[in-house]
Amino acid sequence: MFQRRTVDMTVPSLRSTVSIIMKIGVLALQGDFAEHLSMLRRLGVEAAEVRLPRHLDDLDGLIIPGGESTTIGKLAVDFDLIEPLRQFGKTHAIWGTCAGAIFLSKDVRRPQPLLGLMDIIVQRNAFGRQVDSFEADLPIPELGALPYHAVFIRAPIIESVFGEARVLATLPDGRIVAAQQGKLLATSFHPELTEDVRFHEYFLALAR
Ligand code: GLN
Repeated sequence: MFQRRTVDMTVPSLRSTVSIIMKIGVLALQGDFAEHLSMLRRLGVEAAEVRLPRHLDDLDGLIIPGGESTTIGKLAVDFDLIEPLRQFGKTHAIWGTCAGAIFLSKDVRRPQPLLGLMDIIVQRNAFGRQVDSFEADLPIPELGALPYHAVFIRAPIIESVFGEARVLATLPDGRIVAAQQGKLLATSFHPELTEDVRFHEYFLALAR
């Protein structure tokens, strides 16, 4: 497993926004939702597991965690969550990490249930078996001057952004690993597995 690091870095301009009381849901069908919940609680936010459509009712935003996007999609169909999640995403902030980013996308070039909310095309398991997990320091200007230490686990690549979506972060070779479309965020990597809270703070500012 990846080592947790103590990196106490925050985005000064966002600091004041996180003390506002907010309730953020984490889709808890499968995957590493517990890590997102504890990161949110560390930031002083009320955090709740989402498994049913009614759990979305009083939320300011939603995180869809990493895991297996086919499983998350199938369970979302079984729990009648697809349409409620699409409606929620029209007016609220949603952030998908890894499998969550896949689930948010418009297209993954293979059949599986998707929310289709973000104007991104995603390639699953884009790094193959040899380097299916790795870490990289990425410059992400939105998070400040310090590079962001990103953890990739059988990660997807955002093949392209179109329409309303824009690129937030790339690997040194130019491949896209984070995108934003209004209040919607997609990251190929896992900020919930590090000690750096800047990406969660960035999301909270969108959900505010
Ligand atoms: N490989 C997974 C998928 O395609 C995503 C992996 C992850 O979320 N860490 O759904």
